[in-house]
Amino acid sequence: MEKVLQVDVTTVRDWVGRIATDLEANKDLLTQLDSAIGDADHGTNMVRGFTAVTAALHDATPGTPGELLVLVGSTLISKVGGASGPLYGTAFRRAGKALGAAPDISAEALGTALAAALEGVQGLGAAAEGDKTMVDALAPAVRAYQQAQAAGASIADAADAAARAAAVGAEATIPLQALKGRASYLGARSVGHQDPGATSTSIVLAALAASLVGSD
Ligand code: ADP
Ligand code: MG
Repeated sequence: MEKVLQVDVTTVRDWVGRIATDLEANKDLLTQLDSAIGDADHGTNMVRGFTAVTAALHDATPGTPGELLVLVGSTLISKVGGASGPLYGTAFRRAGKALGAAPDISAEALGTALAAALEGVQGLGAAAEGDKTMVDALAPAVRAYQQAQAAGASIADAADAAARAAAVGAEATIPLQALKGRASYLGARSVGHQDPGATSTSIVLAALAASLVGSD
């Protein structure tokens, strides 16, 4: 029988570590995307945020996945200027709160947490799907996760479905005109470029899937 790995605070620490590494590796790409339709700071913003998160997690030892994700969110809100800090910060805080004080994360609980993150982003930023924002990656990811999970997929396979949907969603922002955020100031000139925030969301969810490989 395959060894089934429990999804606990160590897994979530691993996820956050992967996010930090993967954002650093994609910093120039994110900045390049933001230079086309924004102010060329998205790579810097995300790396600054997750560098602060790494430092916060060096000092703190949150005991549960929920507590850890709330710390991630609070750190992003306090350390990242720009639209993405409060939006990602709210997403992680809401996901953490949805997980409550449970020591482990079930496949169903992760779906609820991802949905709570999306609700937080939309509550704060008021973007709908198609507005060319991170919502265009996160919303299809939540749907793909929940569909997979409802069909009986493992947490690893549901997260993989979410990551794939996020990547497709991010790429599908290219032909869209931005209706929210700084890129919307460009009007029709925002067409033809991939949204930086949707791209970073796809990176965050790919890191989640990578952390969950082998988990049931
Ligand atoms: P800023 O736009 O303040 O420079 P960043 O460059 O870090 O901040 O982040 C830009 C990204 O934030 C965009 O690519 C988009 O995905 C996301 N974003 C901006 N406004 C919103 C919003 N209202 N709702 C959801 N996401 C948004
Ligand atoms: Mg920017």
